[in-house]
Amino acid sequence: MYPPRFRYEAPQTIDEAIQLLSEGGGDAKILAGGQSLIPLLKLRFASPPLLVDINEIPGLDHLDFAADGSIRIGALCRHAALERSEELRVRQPTMAAAAGLVADPIVRNRGTFVGSLCHADPQGDWAAVMVALGGSLVAQGPNGRRSIPVKDLVHGPFQNALTHNEIGVEATVPAPQGTPLGGYLKLERRIGDFATVAVAASVDIEGGAVSRAGIGLVAVGSKTMDASDAAASLVGGPLTPESISSAADLAAEVAKPRSDHRGSADYKKHIVRTFVTRILTRVSSSLEKAA
Ligand SMILES: Cc1cc2nc3c(=O)[nH]c(=O)nc-3n(C[C@H](O)[C@H](O)[C@H](O)COP(=O)(O)OP(=O)(O)OC[C@H]3O[C@@H](n4cnc5c(N)ncnc54)[C@H](O)[C@@H]3O)c2cc1C
Repeated sequence: MYPPRFRYEAPQTIDEAIQLLSEGGGDAKILAGGQSLIPLLKLRFASPPLLVDINEIPGLDHLDFAADGSIRIGALCRHAALERSEELRVRQPTMAAAAGLVADPIVRNRGTFVGSLCHADPQGDWAAVMVALGGSLVAQGPNGRRSIPVKDLVHGPFQNALTHNEIGVEATVPAPQGTPLGGYLKLERRIGDFATVAVAASVDIEGGAVSRAGIGLVAVGSKTMDASDAAASLVGGPLTPESISSAADLAAEVAKPRSDHRGSADYKKHIVRTFVTRILTRVSSSLEKAA
């Protein structure tokens, strides 16, 4: 199906894009990689009269690693750039583990990390990773810039905290508090599919103990779920079979999946428990080997 008719603008600056969004008064849509928006238009689930294509704006495709371990990901940084980054593998294993599991290579070549956060799909992979890492989205609007923690960005299915004339200009991952370890596991019906269930778990290790932890859950609620109590239960001690098991139980409690053609709610909760256990046990084993 063809999308409905729309006006198309490709501004050269962020200010110009914000101006266009302001003029659109809530009816305009930003076009980044188009990997979520274009299908919605073609299916006629959305019919914005104005598309503001940000791909012509220079300086938004960065993937920057600071000396302290913090990371900045520009609004036009594609999934593929993260997947191909050797530095990401070394610096941030939780992100690196997810990078090759988002959609398929065609989508990854065009779709953007920031677009994925803004799209706020409960089945989206990156928002859970950012929840696990304590990451934020930097939004720019007529009144300047503000930083929104991703855990607060996602309000509900396909609903984010941005105003109609704000653009997500970059995402930021804070510096780890020790050695950053973790992983991302995704159950999918076939390669390239959205998650049936996925879990991002990240721990920073300092002196053998967990100094910071985060756990984000995918496709087990109406939005990305933040298993913050599970993560908090890990902080301050070493990773042990007992602490891992307790965190896995707490994470499963947060999950509110629905039974559907992909599996029953109980099955999905079981997967959450299994994935949290598996990621943290792997981290614990790697620490033992390194000791
Ligand atoms: C076949 C297929 C399979 C997929 N599988 C997965 C998957 O397994 N996991 C997964 O996570 N995703 C999946 N996706 C979605 C994909 O990751 C998209 O790339 C991503 O969700 C949106 O990024 P985009 O750059 O393509 O955004 P667009 O499609 O351009 O935009 C999506 C939405 O976000 C808004 N937006 C985009 N950028 C900004 C910005 N900078 N500031 C404010 N708002 C913005 C747009 O206005 C729009 O509402 C799949 C897509 C397809 C087509």
